Amino acid sequence: MNRKYTGFVPLSLSELDTLTQELSRLLGTQHPPVIIPGEAIIGIEAVAAGIAAPGRTILNIVTGPYGSLFGEWLERGGATVAQVKVPFDQVVTVEEVAAAIERYQPVALSFVQAEVVTGGSNPAEEIFKLARRHHLITVTDSVSAVGGEALNVDEWEVDFAVIGAQKALAGPNGVSAVSISPRGWAFLESNERAPRNSILSLLDIKPSPDGTAPLRVPPNIPVLEARALIEALEAVAEEGLSQVIKRHERAAASAIAGISELGLEAWQKDSRHYSTLTTTVRINDEQLLLIKQPMGIVAPGDGELFGQLLRINHFGTNASRDSVESAVQTLARLLKQDAGQAVQAVRQVWSDAE
Ligand SMILES: *Cc1c(COP(=O)(O)O)cnc(C)c1O
Repeated sequence: MNRKYTGFVPLSLSELDTLTQELSRLLGTQHPPVIIPGEAIIGIEAVAAGIAAPGRTILNIVTGPYGSLFGEWLERGGATVAQVKVPFDQVVTVEEVAAAIERYQPVALSFVQAEVVTGGSNPAEEIFKLARRHHLITVTDSVSAVGGEALNVDEWEVDFAVIGAQKALAGPNGVSAVSISPRGWAFLESNERAPRNSILSLLDIKPSPDGTAPLRVPPNIPVLEARALIEALEAVAEEGLSQVIKRHERAAASAIAGISELGLEAWQKDSRHYSTLTTTVRINDEQLLLIKQPMGIVAPGDGELFGQLLRINHFGTNASRDSVESAVQTLARLLKQDAGQAVQAVRQVWSDAE
């Protein structure tokens, strides 16, 4: 080894500008999102810490484990947490949310847009419309929705949307972003309890209110991760966001076609609300219990869902015909079935789409 170390090039203002613009374009917002120096879960915790306060009732919709965690963080911040929780093999309905708003009269509402753990996707656009009619501040964990389904931040008037790139966008997991509306900033600023001088502080990293570009690159942005995120976002822009979403829809449709051919069924109950990133498969055969660790993109259920379902993680680069075919072959092998028909069913969905 005689390679000479040539030093490390800091992130430039122009790279930061590109990153911010790509994020704004991805989310359909004219308000520059803040860049979170870490995994998306930090952005989610930062939002909870920033909005929670005694005297604020927040309606937290729980359709999977991330929603439960968000509720705990809101409680830690002193908020009164009203919860709508549904069995994890279902998503929430707009009627349930409407009834909870009437009952608890919250000032804000939070939910996970799409759940990779359960394979469900909530009726996001309708929930935002409903929330807007009641003038509620809205928070969405869209880490597993962005790139897999629509997320139109300004059009839907979303106040806080947390995203990461490690799922549908095939990007790094070490940097993430939160899009915050002017109303959202005001909601943070009016909260005495909102963190300052903390890794959880969104106010510490607020862009200038008059929209002028930053004069220097915030020193907390992880440089390599930021560069990788720019690359991932440019790749998404090049393929076209709507095409990326379509690819995920096809992956999901083909996974369903393949498992049906094997005599398996989806764990999520309502086929109108499947996540496009993962297909969860009901375990109705002892052979499937044998999966204790991921085999390719087939993985056992997380936590309490272990033993109930298997996940087919067809997101990012694995939102592809080849990956879904391999997953179906893995399942066929475990079931000691011939994979031929199921693979054919997967291929059919992709070729119909072409
Ligand atoms: C993946 C994911 C996250 C982020 O979790 P990490 O541990 O940062 O990968 C948050 N929310 C949802 C709904 C997710 O699917």
